[in-house]
Amino acid sequence: MINRFFMPDYCFDDIYAITPEFLVSLGVKLVLLDIDNTLVPYEEPLPTAPVLKWLAGLDEKGIAAAFISNNERERVETFNRGLQYYASWKSKKPSVRYYRKAMEKNGVGREGTAVIGDQIFTDVWSAKRLGVPALLVKPIRDKKTLLFRFKRALEKPILRRFRRREEKETARRKEGKKL
Ligand SMILES: [Mg+2]
Repeated sequence: MINRFFMPDYCFDDIYAITPEFLVSLGVKLVLLDIDNTLVPYEEPLPTAPVLKWLAGLDEKGIAAAFISNNERERVETFNRGLQYYASWKSKKPSVRYYRKAMEKNGVGREGTAVIGDQIFTDVWSAKRLGVPALLVKPIRDKKTLLFRFKRALEKPILRRFRRREEKETARRKEGKKL
């Protein structure tokens, strides 16, 4: 159950660890991006210079991007003003409605799409429902509310399982080399 709905396909320390080359190797032509805590912290209204550079790097490789956020309209529109990507607010993730719209707008199907976000129960779950790779990044800076701490606590066993699976995979690869 966990594997099918909540297990990220890849985990990264931050978005900068996700290179355009890696995305190209996955066949990705469109990334559906979470904003808060994935690209910038909550209190940062605009894309920072490193974020813009990262997005430009994707663009250079012909990878399109869209923002799918559960946050308010004003936050998303302000963030997207200079970029003018497809963007949706109050998306009710893990609803996949706006992800699908973004794919339609960009003319990219499941096989060319990936989801990038920082939360298992919104971003990763959405990716699983869509049937596209889920790329999880560590949250930049969490809100300190009780609800948030609770959500993070629920994510922990899943992340532990991801790491265990990775370790096994690495061990298997090493053994394979020996043979
Ligand atoms: Mg987020």
